[in-house]
Amino acid sequence: MSGPKAIIRSETWTITPDREPDAKPLTHKMRCDVCGDESGEDGSWEPPQSWALSHSGRNPSHHSYSEIITRPWRTFMPTP
Ligand SMILES: [Zn+2]
Repeated sequence: MSGPKAIIRSETWTITPDREPDAKPLTHKMRCDVCGDESGEDGSWEPPQSWALSHSGRNPSHHSYSEIITRPWRTFMPTP
């Protein structure tokens, strides 16, 4: 017979963007969809966008980019 040997406890967890003081920062970066080259990560979207404009200037056939956003999340068990 298969199945769990013991059920410990059923809990409900919640997930939320992590805005605690020790949370990792939210960062943006751009990746060229043509060659895969990437900007650096930055807390602001402006430097990655400036990088994309410069990248197109150096590579005039590279017009497509993906923005990669890293957003910290955390889970917690709400207190009843
Ligand atoms: Zn490129």
